[in-house]
Amino acid sequence: MTAPHPAPPTFPMFVSVEEARTLLRQLLPERRTETVALASAFGRTLAADLMARVSHPSATESALDGIACREADTLAASPEQPTRLRLIGESRAGLAFAGTVGAGEAVRIYTGAPLPQGANAICPVEQLQDDSDRADGDGVLLLRPASPGDVRREGGDFEAGETVLHAGALLTPARVALAAALGHAEVPTLKPLRVAVMSTGDEVIEPGQPLSAGQVYNSNAYGLLGMLREAGCEAVLLPAAPDSPEALEQALTSIGGADILLTSGGVSMGKYDFVRDLLIQEGKVSFWKVRMRPGGPAMLGGWKGLPVFGLPGNPVSSLVVFQVIVRPALTGQPLSTLRLRAGTPFRGLADKTAFWRAEVRGSQVFDYGKQGSGVLRSLSDAGALVIMPEGGAAEVGDEVDVVLMD
Ligand code: AMP
Ligand code: MG
Repeated sequence: MTAPHPAPPTFPMFVSVEEARTLLRQLLPERRTETVALASAFGRTLAADLMARVSHPSATESALDGIACREADTLAASPEQPTRLRLIGESRAGLAFAGTVGAGEAVRIYTGAPLPQGANAICPVEQLQDDSDRADGDGVLLLRPASPGDVRREGGDFEAGETVLHAGALLTPARVALAAALGHAEVPTLKPLRVAVMSTGDEVIEPGQPLSAGQVYNSNAYGLLGMLREAGCEAVLLPAAPDSPEALEQALTSIGGADILLTSGGVSMGKYDFVRDLLIQEGKVSFWKVRMRPGGPAMLGGWKGLPVFGLPGNPVSSLVVFQVIVRPALTGQPLSTLRLRAGTPFRGLADKTAFWRAEVRGSQVFDYGKQGSGVLRSLSDAGALVIMPEGGAAEVGDEVDVVLMD
């Protein structure tokens, strides 16, 4: 017989996935802001709106290599009867043509070069023939009319003064590039959360050490580290703690400077699940157990002012709980899902949200099969989770919500 916990619970139990996320968000510290150089901005969250300091393009410019001219001069141009224009100069990227293009005239132009005064159209180099041996100077023959569509208008992408990026945006590579184009050398960001990771369990051994029967390598910590980094957090790996209340208390007490601690293991129903006991003793439990599978035993509490999220030890459970509860709370971004058609049936559970491992092939999603929460290969092979709401079910061809794990 194991005693699940010493006192009747004074905290919420069996919360929903959504409630678990909300309770975690409430425990996280107010985010400080930090201005960083663009080169360090990738993966961070923007802390304020960003305005364009300049327009892009900064001048109306050519989208092609060719010549700039007046469209009206070229309307009759064809391969049989090319139109001849007189070349009066060139406009290159970074060095505009200073004069004006008049009737019957053209300027050689290159991609990104400002469209000269007087010109309103481009004829691409592929549609030109050289015609330079004439008394009236250098010229070109146009095999088709010049096109006003081959210019990029000043401010056509964004105008100076426009708010282009919004506070809360995750700085993806495309957004970092956009911030650069807006004219910002540095950007205000949320300081990353510092997240400590500690595995627990007498059987948990570091990879590289010899393993005896009954022991297991610490895989959770490494999966979590990757997921934390991918979520833009600063991850700190702590040594694994044994299943002893004293050792665990010692390990918890010696953590300095983290915004939150993620533990793995020790929050289930067993006698040796001491993370659970310590958090209950400490009296700051926000919830224990979530109506989900896998991942049901998860617990949230506090230890001397430090929020502690107790992930279940089962490898699949710990990574799934991280993905669907912890990650959205840490990043402030909603869980990202897509709708796909079921290629196999997916069952639901009466009183739990199920996250079934699944494989995406084309526009369909298929049950991975082995749904045990200790099957480590499954997450790596499957790559996706199908979300089946409480009491739901899907037949082949039904649309289902899917979380991509990679
Ligand atoms: P627990 O939640 O502590 O009862 O652990 C549940 C299962 O997960 C047990 O089979 C543990 O051996 C396994 N486990 C716990 N921690 C880890 C870890 N860090 N890496 C891999 N497996 C683990
Ligand atoms: Mg354990």
